[in-house]
Amino acid sequence: MSRGDMAKPLLGHRSTEGDPSLTPAAGRTVGVLGSGDFARSLAMRLVCSGFKVVVGSRNPKRKASLFPSAAEVTFQAEAVKKTDVIFVAVFREHYSTLCDLADVLVGKILVDVSNNTEINHHKESNAEYLASLFPACTVVKGFNVISAWTLQSGARDGNKQVLICSNNQEAKRTVAEIAQVMGFTPVDMGCMSSACEIENIPLRLLPAWKIPIFLALGLFLCFFTYNLIRQVIHPYIREQKNKLYKIPIEVVNTTLPCVSYVMLSLVYLPGVLAACSQLYYGTKYRRFPDWLDQWLQHRKQIGLLSFFCAALHAVYSLCLPMRRSHRYLLIETAVKQAVEKKMTIWVEEEVWRMEIYISVGIIALGLLSLLAITSLPSIANSLNWREFSFVQSTLGFIALVISTLHTLTYGWSRAFDENQYKFYLPPTYTLTLLVPCTVIIAKVIFTLPCIQHRLLRIRRGWEKGRYVKFVLPSATGEFSSGETSSNV
Ligand code: NAP
Repeated sequence: MSRGDMAKPLLGHRSTEGDPSLTPAAGRTVGVLGSGDFARSLAMRLVCSGFKVVVGSRNPKRKASLFPSAAEVTFQAEAVKKTDVIFVAVFREHYSTLCDLADVLVGKILVDVSNNTEINHHKESNAEYLASLFPACTVVKGFNVISAWTLQSGARDGNKQVLICSNNQEAKRTVAEIAQVMGFTPVDMGCMSSACEIENIPLRLLPAWKIPIFLALGLFLCFFTYNLIRQVIHPYIREQKNKLYKIPIEVVNTTLPCVSYVMLSLVYLPGVLAACSQLYYGTKYRRFPDWLDQWLQHRKQIGLLSFFCAALHAVYSLCLPMRRSHRYLLIETAVKQAVEKKMTIWVEEEVWRMEIYISVGIIALGLLSLLAITSLPSIANSLNWREFSFVQSTLGFIALVISTLHTLTYGWSRAFDENQYKFYLPPTYTLTLLVPCTVIIAKVIFTLPCIQHRLLRIRRGWEKGRYVKFVLPSATGEFSSGETSSNV
């Protein structure tokens, strides 16, 4: 955005008089202390949102040209005098240099936007430290989770949520109104004691993804090693054949579907365990163990990683015929055929197996794509709970069943062929079937009327050993699947 563009308010300044839907925040004067990256982006966004902005700098003459012309850049004390709400866009280490302003700051709202370089870096949060330096001010923590880049590009790009906390409700409301007019979504995080948590948020790297990523990497490593032993090390030791060329594509491509398939089953396994726990204890009011709770909360990420591996598997598979090794082997087979004077190598059973295997694989990938898309917040928000549950629970389970068919048609009768047991190790696909088949069998058992009935009662509040008058939903029932009646 050019300086010329910045000078013009994007939303224009409209009078809020007589229109209760318009927040009175727009049009007020907002102060910014500091002239760095954050201060500049913030001033630009505020000007674009219809605020009058006054910037306080130690060197206003030198810094003025960096700000939109609609913003006033002046000395710190001057800026503070002109407004009641001041964003402190200065690092914590420099807060003490603002102490000279203590007199003019009395009664003002200070917005602490600062971040730390390490999680729990200081004993007290930056906002609490600022409040201790200026006891006559009201400090609000906010905007630290928004980057200078997001401020510049507006709320269209990047995170829209502004987490706010303060011990003063009025001040918190004022800052929330400003955030709203700027196009952000203020989120009330409570009182000042939450500041530390808010300051730690931008330092965390994909916290919800850590366990699922380690899980996927762990599975990948296990299956990769297993496939390497079977496909590369075994032929080398037993037949002195060099099959190292298989590592980059073939071994990876046989590993990816194993990871994807097992991960998909791990999305549904905690639901099965939770149902078993509820059936065993005869109540839904008993807390699940922490590990199960954590597992249930990470299902979305595990599912998305399963989809990622499946998508990679599809791309790798499409590229298999492009390889030189594939062409050489094809020509070699053709030459052998010619030498042996064989006119055809058509095996009807193999043809059918491959046709079904590929078709089922495509359907499974399609369903996984649907699951992945509907897990995106923007899409999920457009679905009601029943639709979301139908896609994630019912279609997800169907995807697992179809993936199982894909695996079985891939393996076919190999499990019964003793040549497939390299170093006595069974074919990889037989190992991958273990968890998914357990989940499928358990889910089928849960649909048995006696068990389904009990589970439904438990999930509607019935408890073993307690008498509660209980009415089951109708046959077309509200809760068609065991998983729709609770968060499980
Ligand atoms: P910056 O570019 O280094 O700017 C810091 C500003 O502080 C300087 O321009 C300076 O302005 C002012 N300042 C006041 N007293 C100072 C002193 N004694 N020594 C040095 N500078 C002093 O930093 P920034 O990236 O804008 O970050 C400012 C604050 O916003 C930090 O607390 C940061 O954690 C927070 N924040 C930044 C981002 C981001 O994306 N950059 C995102 C979220 C939060 P004058 O010379 O005009 O006085």
